[in-house]
Amino acid sequence: MTPEQKQELKAVIEKKISQTENSITEYREMTQPVAPDDSIGRLSRMDAINNKSVMEAALRQAEQKLSRLKESLFKIQDSEYGKCTRCGSPIPFNRLKAIPDSTRCISCA
Ligand SMILES: [Zn+2]
Repeated sequence: MTPEQKQELKAVIEKKISQTENSITEYREMTQPVAPDDSIGRLSRMDAINNKSVMEAALRQAEQKLSRLKESLFKIQDSEYGKCTRCGSPIPFNRLKAIPDSTRCISCA
């Protein structure tokens, strides 16, 4: 990987980190406890509770993604970055650009 490619990937990762942080903020707002408000009615309250568990799952995923992205940003200085953890071959640059936290090449993923 050339230094220019590393710079490019770093920018991609930084952008994805801030996007993921924004989604986490949104998910956190949406997973606030559902108010026992009679005015929304029983069915919409159940909807709200269902949505809440969907949002909680999305929040957990986003948090995991954020930590993987931060790890990639740290590892990008390392020569091991961009190598498949299974077969050791280099992960194609375009794949890293699309999913910078990928740790496996296309055939091992
Ligand atoms: Zn591989």
